[in-house]
Amino acid sequence: MMSKMDQKEIKSGGRLPVWRLVRKHIEITGFSFKKIAFVIVGLKLASTLFEGMGFAMLLPITEFMIAGQDLAALQAKSDLWRRLVESADSIGIPVNLFTLLSMSFVFILFRQLFQYFQVSYEIRKAREFDRQVQVAAFDKSLRMRLSEIDMSRTGEFVNDITNEVSRANSAIFIVISTIGHVLQLLLYVGVMVTISVWLSLALLVMALVQVRLMRGMMSKSQDISEQITSCNQSLITFLVERLRSLRLVRLSGTEATELNSLDQLVRNLNQRAISIQMISARIPIIVEPMAVLMIFMLMYVGTDLLGMQIEFLVMFAASTLRLLPILQQIMISYQNVLSVSASLRTTINRIEVLSESGEPTGGPRKFEGLKDAIKFENVSFRYGFENGPLALDNISLEIPAGKITGLVGPSGSGKSTLIDLLPMLRDPIGGEIQFDGIPRDEFSVQSLRTKIAFVPQSPQVFNESVEQHIRYGNPDISKEEIIKAAKLADAEEFIGELPLGYDTLIGENGIRLSGGQRQRLDLARAVARNSSILILDEPASGLDADAEEHFRRALVRIKENTGVTIVLIAHGFSTVVAADQIVVLRKGHVEESGTHEFLMKSSSWYAQAFNKQHHAVLSGPLSDAEK
Ligand code: ADP
Ligand code: MG
Repeated sequence: MMSKMDQKEIKSGGRLPVWRLVRKHIEITGFSFKKIAFVIVGLKLASTLFEGMGFAMLLPITEFMIAGQDLAALQAKSDLWRRLVESADSIGIPVNLFTLLSMSFVFILFRQLFQYFQVSYEIRKAREFDRQVQVAAFDKSLRMRLSEIDMSRTGEFVNDITNEVSRANSAIFIVISTIGHVLQLLLYVGVMVTISVWLSLALLVMALVQVRLMRGMMSKSQDISEQITSCNQSLITFLVERLRSLRLVRLSGTEATELNSLDQLVRNLNQRAISIQMISARIPIIVEPMAVLMIFMLMYVGTDLLGMQIEFLVMFAASTLRLLPILQQIMISYQNVLSVSASLRTTINRIEVLSESGEPTGGPRKFEGLKDAIKFENVSFRYGFENGPLALDNISLEIPAGKITGLVGPSGSGKSTLIDLLPMLRDPIGGEIQFDGIPRDEFSVQSLRTKIAFVPQSPQVFNESVEQHIRYGNPDISKEEIIKAAKLADAEEFIGELPLGYDTLIGENGIRLSGGQRQRLDLARAVARNSSILILDEPASGLDADAEEHFRRALVRIKENTGVTIVLIAHGFSTVVAADQIVVLRKGHVEESGTHEFLMKSSSWYAQAFNKQHHAVLSGPLSDAEK
């Protein structure tokens, strides 16, 4: 687990060293680092070993050529040659220029083969890792508390679990390949030290100077990385928000402005992306010429000052030639990890917040359905931080089973908030809610939600057929049940008129339904759920009088046919007159309750609002005073 201190540092945007970010990312994603690193580095070392052997063959080959291909002379001179020739003889291979060169060639081939294994393993693991982290993040976000969702921006979330996750994940693979590179480096250094300690020391000094020179250049990467991440977030947020309200953009004629803003956002991003890539591109510009210079110096030091044999010098120079690109690669890797440091930070943050904001799962009891009543006792709720206004202030009321309870009141009075408490979408800050006398929190969230169906104000219709929509969340119901639900919800008639009936595609790629049709279709989905409590949040708002009438009749029919308890938030009063009980909410208080007839007798908000609505319909043009 991560210490509290680190969490605070990360969340407050504090700059952790990049290696700690990488370690944290590994911890938090549960990446099996050791296993995967072992395989990748192992394959890499195998390929290096063959490469090294291929190059090491240069030594005997040069000796062989210098000796004028005279095997006997070579054997007389060196033990190594004698053993080489003996073992070659025992397996029946003649030692000549052809076999020596072939051996070197085969080693190089093996090197390539192992490299291929390594690359393909790495590519597959990287993709798999992205998938794991993305699925885990999505899973967590599906179970996120509503209070967190209120505060999060969709665009940033989308960016974080796509772009940032895969950039952050790439850091881990860069680290793994760096381990391989460092080991490779050590291997070459080992060879070089055996050839000449002094020459190796000279090389080390020159390499250190280079590293020093480049560190300054790379230190900017972490800053730019932060900027890139925030540019990405703004860009995706912008896109998500604008595409969601295309209608508004078009009707306001702001296309040109929006286009400009997008252009600017992309420019901002590009500018940073370019400068960070330029840093990587500059590394070879510095390293390559330095490398040539170093080799020339080595030649001079080796021959003139140290008086080394020419074949050793060639070996040493060859090793240096191989070593420098590795050194360069290590620096580029470091630079790349720096350049995704912000993605690491963002991903860690995102996963942390998601993990902390998971919904509670509720108690152990299984909710089997409402038999008697739902009771609110002095329930209060507020959004956001302490000292904010109460959205629900000491609410006490009873919702009897098998009846229709209407909830009315001006907008902002707390109606939607109140019903969010039932399926545990939100938790009250005071008071208690009981189902048949048992506190809500004793039931498991899952069992409560199974038994509570919800029809939102503007139902979301995914891209699917009518039948699939009714089946959403009720995967096991039969076609008969679907038709029955559609009939109860008064949707059967219009579904029959659609071109393909129940198979008609609706939503973005299909037929667009009218508001009233969508409502009744969604009502059918809720009815098909066979739940015990049916909640509707202002279902009839935006419907014309005719559609409203349809809807009211459908509700009464549903109640009588299924015995379900209905809670109906109503805007228009004509849907609510049929309710068995009407509760009037104002500013988070219950102002009054009773039947329509009872409430109409009082001179309170309900009677006034009811009369006003009906008066408005009848009174026609505004009076002078109203204008
Ligand atoms: P109604 O459904 O009766 O119109 P709501 O329950 O939506 O009223 O809102 C009650 C109060 O809570 C209002 O003052 C509203 O501004 C506030 N509110 C509603 N939703 C949120 C939210 N997600 N975050 C903060 N405040 C909210
Ligand atoms: Mg509302």
